[in-house]
Amino acid sequence: MSRVAYYFNNEIGNFYYGPFHPMKPLRMKMTHEMLRAYNILSKFNRIIPEDHPDFTSKIDFTNFHSDEYINFLMTVTPDNMNQMQEQLLYYSIGDDCPIFYGLGDFCRMSGTGSVLGAHYINEGWSQTSINWCGGLHHAKRSEAIGFCYLNDCVLAILELLTRHQRVMYIDIDVHHGDGVEEAFFCTDRVLTCSFHKFGDYFPGTGSINDIGAGVGKYYAVNFPCYEGMDDVSFEHIFQSTVNNCVEKFKPEAIVLQCGTDSLSGDRLGCFNLSIKGHSIGVRYVKTLGIPFMLLGGGGYTLRNVPRAWTNEAALSLDIELDDEMPKHDYLEYFYPEYKLNMPVSNMENVNTPEYLNSILEQIDNHLKNIHISNPDLNLNKGWVDPSIVKDFNPKDNEQEYIDKHPDEKFGEKDSVPLRNVENFEDDKGKK
Ligand SMILES: [Zn+2]
Repeated sequence: MSRVAYYFNNEIGNFYYGPFHPMKPLRMKMTHEMLRAYNILSKFNRIIPEDHPDFTSKIDFTNFHSDEYINFLMTVTPDNMNQMQEQLLYYSIGDDCPIFYGLGDFCRMSGTGSVLGAHYINEGWSQTSINWCGGLHHAKRSEAIGFCYLNDCVLAILELLTRHQRVMYIDIDVHHGDGVEEAFFCTDRVLTCSFHKFGDYFPGTGSINDIGAGVGKYYAVNFPCYEGMDDVSFEHIFQSTVNNCVEKFKPEAIVLQCGTDSLSGDRLGCFNLSIKGHSIGVRYVKTLGIPFMLLGGGGYTLRNVPRAWTNEAALSLDIELDDEMPKHDYLEYFYPEYKLNMPVSNMENVNTPEYLNSILEQIDNHLKNIHISNPDLNLNKGWVDPSIVKDFNPKDNEQEYIDKHPDEKFGEKDSVPLRNVENFEDDKGKK
């Protein structure tokens, strides 16, 4: 059986945030059909929730989210939302995170795919699990934000923690992985590492000095970048940083969020990565020999998302795809070249080698504080008391830390630039 497990639900492509919203769930369906056209689908161990009714029925999104918030997500519809004005405001529902038909099902599918993918790794059924319907890294415990409602990344990591002592989260979306970082800000069992555009950019967090707190101090790693990040620079900083984190932290499992808004020409992004440059994440993580999950994330130039995710899913199987795109239902989106790869722009890379090396040096200084005394201590135990995770409440942890350190600035968010989703025309692809 294939060592790569893959989740997809055929309905996911039908959900619709609205005509002027840049987030298009159709991109997951386009990826799925491109994988089929390249004859890759049959090579996966398919993750089918119905095959695991006992496990699936016990998936509990309130392991991270509040009961009230999950109840709200599962019951709110465009028809009853007017009677829920207070909750809409409280949970930050609005232009970025609208209420659409099937929202609860959308969240359930995305979350189930990631938690079940983690279960496949826990059980040793797969070395790699893929869920392109996940990676919704901004969602908070009781808040929808940045097009994200349910934080499947956090839920998957919590599942991995029931069997793995230390889990590393890597995020290559152009936006800071703030929701995941915040959830594990105060623990030393999860190291989060995000590469993102920083400075006057959503969500506003993720500076080099954003390093975690309490026992989690130094277990949050942030690589703030400027616009124009290109393949050569990205390869250098990704490999150096991830290699350094892995050496110090010795993770037993890795979750890689593969947001594609870091690609060149993204409608909301400002990096300049090619399809090949973006795949550095998967290529490098695969060489580590540690079980890993691939999750989706951002990506707003519709035709480029399936290019990257199809390529990266194939790479997880050690397959290099032909640049000539095979015939499939969405081929017209790739007119006129019909190629897997796409050209990058001639925009300036504002990230100078001096700047990047100075950040690498600062990260290295932070990581020197991480000492895993007995990395193999629990390796053969194969099981960690789930109560450690079940009772884990990041907000309690945070409050406890604030109470103990009243003078220290903590979790302070500068004015956060919100995304502006107005003036977005519906994406029909270029013809
Ligand atoms: Zn993003």
